[in-house]
Amino acid sequence: MDNCVFCGIAAGTIPSKKVYEDDKIVAFHDLNPQAPVHVLFVPKQHICCADKITEDNCDVVAHIFCTIPKVAAELGLTDGYRIVNNCGEHGCQTVKHLHFHLLGGTQLRGSMV
Ligand code: 5GP
Ligand code: ZN
Repeated sequence: MDNCVFCGIAAGTIPSKKVYEDDKIVAFHDLNPQAPVHVLFVPKQHICCADKITEDNCDVVAHIFCTIPKVAAELGLTDGYRIVNNCGEHGCQTVKHLHFHLLGGTQLRGSMV
């Protein structure tokens, strides 16, 4: 999709520090990390948010969740991590292309909000 930063990163037209890529997804370091490890997992297909996951496009979400443990191990997250998805206005989603934050590398705080 035009003017979508994560579509640009997925296509390679916008630079990023990639840690994983295949034909369906890409994972790269967040520009503004909130933890020692902060990686974003993004489908290459433009899906605007978690609210638009359907039976027709959910395979890529399963693929992301199958890939996260492999990448987490490569990044040394042996003591656990957090996966976060912000959806829509109340969820404070700022980039309108579905993504999952992988956060770790330290003891994270317990609060969800
Ligand atoms: P959201 O608030 O939508 O859940 O998260 C968007 C995330 O994308 C933020 O953590 C922000 O730092 C990150 N981000 C925004 N623009 C870019 C970019 O151009 N490159 C990278 N690597 N991360 C970005
Ligand atoms: Zn997009």
